[in-house]
Amino acid sequence: MNPEQMPDNPYLLLTPGPLSTTRTVKAAMYLDWCTWDSDYNAIVQQIREDLVCLAGEDETFTSVLMQGSGTFCVEATLTTAVPPDGKLLVVANGAYGRRIAEIARCQGINHECIDGDECASPDLDRIEATLQSDAAITHVAVVHCETTTGMLNPVEEIGRIVKAAEKCFIVDAMSSFGGVPMDMEAMGADYLISSANKCIQGVPGFGFIIARRSVLEGTRGQARSLSLDLYDQWRTMEDHGGKWRFTSPTHVVRAFSQALGELKAEGGIKARHARYTENHRILVEGMQRIGFQPLLPVQWQSPIITAFLYPRSVDWQFQSFYEGLKSRGFVIYPGKVTDRETFRVGNIGDVHAKDMHRLIDAVGDTVHFMARQ
Ligand SMILES: *Cc1c(COP(=O)(O)O)cnc(C)c1O
Repeated sequence: MNPEQMPDNPYLLLTPGPLSTTRTVKAAMYLDWCTWDSDYNAIVQQIREDLVCLAGEDETFTSVLMQGSGTFCVEATLTTAVPPDGKLLVVANGAYGRRIAEIARCQGINHECIDGDECASPDLDRIEATLQSDAAITHVAVVHCETTTGMLNPVEEIGRIVKAAEKCFIVDAMSSFGGVPMDMEAMGADYLISSANKCIQGVPGFGFIIARRSVLEGTRGQARSLSLDLYDQWRTMEDHGGKWRFTSPTHVVRAFSQALGELKAEGGIKARHARYTENHRILVEGMQRIGFQPLLPVQWQSPIITAFLYPRSVDWQFQSFYEGLKSRGFVIYPGKVTDRETFRVGNIGDVHAKDMHRLIDAVGDTVHFMARQ
């Protein structure tokens, strides 16, 4: 398939994933390749190696790909990592942190959740005190970029506390990995979870876990699930040169391999982070000029997704704003904060400065049009 002959997308996705992908990533899915020979397995092995490199090029880490969306990977990690006599401490300040606790509940994993304010950074003293007072805790889980608000949580500081207490540290870096530089050793992370359709800019269909090899090796037989057994999935990929246990999302894997190549060609995570940061700057400055205020203070705000407060005017309706922007070629995202009215705008994916400038023009037009109704 010649990518040039592909039709234009009707709109740009300004969401936290699935997001707008390049034509070349989509074109990689055009052919049906076989899965049972070494060509395909070699692609899988290269992806696994590349992921470990992106997380800090450390040989003490390994990676596993897992079918499903990002939540499947979080569930696979929890059910496999925490042994029957273990206890998980969840540090939550948003919907995705609370989802980790929800998974623990469904899996029958003994857990406790520090459920903090969605608009505040996690309370580090409270994490430390909880670890000191409850010796039963063996694992700690936190979200890196809490997509509910766009908050970037201080994983390195939390990691230092977790490591000082000698606990296993699980990081949901779903919406930030590939878009924000990170180093697993510096974070003290034992497991880092992300998925194909976020900052690596692939399409949805699988996720991945980068794990400390020595820790993953000790989890055999612990999973409370067959299909989500992370150890078994890893063992099969290790022992059979990149083979998946059950049907693999072959087209998505091809697209992901292309996306990794494009990340490298862009200049790696540092360059991508710079592009996202510039997108975010244009977004926030433009929105503020029009009269919208971001939910979070700047020091906690990620360059991934931004939550904006509904304007105070009584007749403002999110649905008409959303429809207005969509008809102008941009899809934004509803809010998810519990006690404030917000909407969110993502700036990740195949999205560039010129797109953000066009978005700001479209927001201005839409607001102007709505005011005349
Ligand atoms: C996207 C995301 C997930 C996974 O969501 P899925 O819909 O299952 O892919 C998990 N955690 C965070 C922080 C996310 O942004």
